[in-house]
Amino acid sequence: MSNKLLEGFEKFFTEEYDSSDSVMQKLVEEGQQPEYFIISCIDSRANPGTIFKPKPGTFFAFKAMGAIVRPYKQGTALAASLQFALEHMKVPKLILLGHTQCGAIKAMAEDIDDPEIASFLNVAKDGLEKAKAKLGEENGEVLLREAEKQIVLQSMENLKTYPPVANALEENRLEIRGWVFDMAAGAILEYAQDTQTFEPITNLKLTQQGKCCA
Ligand SMILES: [Zn+2]
Repeated sequence: MSNKLLEGFEKFFTEEYDSSDSVMQKLVEEGQQPEYFIISCIDSRANPGTIFKPKPGTFFAFKAMGAIVRPYKQGTALAASLQFALEHMKVPKLILLGHTQCGAIKAMAEDIDDPEIASFLNVAKDGLEKAKAKLGEENGEVLLREAEKQIVLQSMENLKTYPPVANALEENRLEIRGWVFDMAAGAILEYAQDTQTFEPITNLKLTQQGKCCA
């Protein structure tokens, strides 16, 4: 097995187990009560376990290519996970985390010639079509950036078809947020209902020359 993983585990062990205020030992003894459920892409660069530097016990994590959420169907991995997290654990915050330069969304836009992958990704075609309708003649990277956002919105709508999500919303005990990790800018964007745009909610600026964001 890769030493990179075991080196990381040693760091984790030292910081989270083998200290007087060990977070993990407390969680093992007392159980977990995560505040968030995060749905993200399988991309290795946009991993919430990396980018949010979470303490153990912070969130339930669910991953799918492109962070794409299909409409509800009983018996899927996501349906069971949401049922557990929202009905049994009463998690109060659900985050749909997309990201820029998403390979899955690019593959979908370019009609990837792989039936297994395409049959999953194509559920998000509506988001791509909305991006095209909004931008008109734009294509290439500009279109992909907009599609990534539209697909987050589409997935958020699909989430509401899951009974535990609908139920938690009805009972007023769930917030759903649509976020995009802008990998080039090093920023988290959130969908704002009032302006209907994704806006930065982090204010850290890249200081490397030529890379600083607008
Ligand atoms: Zn991705």
